Amino acid sequence: MWYLERDGLGRLIGLLAERGYRVIGPTVRDGAVVLDEVTGLADLPAGVREVQGPGRYRLERTDDGRLFDWAHGPDAGKRFLFPPRERLTEIRRGREGMRAEPAPEEDDRPLALLGLRSCDLHAIAVQDRVFLELDERYRRRRERAVLIGVNCAVPGSTCFCVSMGTGPRCTAGFDLALTELAEGFALEVGSRLGAELRDALGVRAATDGERAEVEAIARAAAERMGRSLDVADMPGLLYRNREHPRWGDVGARCLACANCTMVCPTCFCHDVVDDVSLSGETATRTREWASCFSAEYSWAAGAVVRESHAARYLQWLTHKFASWIDQFGVSGCVGCGRCITWCPVGIDVTEEIAAIRASDGAVEVRTA
Ligand code: SF4
Ligand code: SF4
Repeated sequence: MWYLERDGLGRLIGLLAERGYRVIGPTVRDGAVVLDEVTGLADLPAGVREVQGPGRYRLERTDDGRLFDWAHGPDAGKRFLFPPRERLTEIRRGREGMRAEPAPEEDDRPLALLGLRSCDLHAIAVQDRVFLELDERYRRRRERAVLIGVNCAVPGSTCFCVSMGTGPRCTAGFDLALTELAEGFALEVGSRLGAELRDALGVRAATDGERAEVEAIARAAAERMGRSLDVADMPGLLYRNREHPRWGDVGARCLACANCTMVCPTCFCHDVVDDVSLSGETATRTREWASCFSAEYSWAAGAVVRESHAARYLQWLTHKFASWIDQFGVSGCVGCGRCITWCPVGIDVTEEIAAIRASDGAVEVRTA
């Protein structure tokens, strides 16, 4: 472990920019901590705390100037590694007929993602399982990216990463990981590239006292989790309760707005849309995020197969916490709590699952 002075973080941002990276970090915009391009320490959210709850998010100012005493806003690394809207192919009519070419990247600089939480690093690992083998554009971005984690000191009230085994301390998947101390940062190195950046920054070894402080911060954060979730036999619990009346109850509250899927750092569903110019000379193919909460998403064989909001919620939650495990060997939930915070009606996955578990076995399962 190493010690980086507060100004050293500014130097790290500058160093990455000098090396051609597009540095994406946390900043305050429109009343939220979001991820965007940053050029120095002044862009980071100094002296900001979040108040989060089901359907609720607000920032409060503090005078302490600390940079990372918030959990997370609506953004995660997903928006940059797997953009919400991305042109894939451009097609032009030429003398020799139609010619299709991969669309150029809007910004081809490699990404440096700064300020990712442990749950966000786990979410990237989940998306890697989906895209890395199959999607060249994702692979290229991912392989060139630098990931800089920041350990949580102040978890949000909707966070439950401890239950999901994904936080609050960054343990894997980063090049560098920071813990904010009183005057500077403890720095951990997770890759050869991380070690090279550390050497270029000029840091000193952390003292025993600083190491102990990092452990204490991680312990305190784990104890301050806003929520918890019993994950025992999650696939079994959800598969045998497909007829549970709680789905009808949550379906009556759910607006099918898709906010939960948009903010979820692991949701990967997308649609591919073709546009042809009126002249017929050019066409484009674009990939866009899609959501299992929209009616169009479940259109199959000429009909919507998940008509009710209850059926869509059941599909989403069961995929996230059960069939994802069958599909990818890991849970599709990293316990970030964003879907709880950004749900306009405050639907809380931990509450819904707890309600189903509370009456597990009490509901008669109808068989054909
Ligand atoms: S399901 Fe909710 S808590 Fe889990 S990773 Fe997605 S947004 Fe976060
Ligand atoms: S659970 Fe909430 S955020 Fe998700 S679709 Fe329903 S109303 Fe929207």
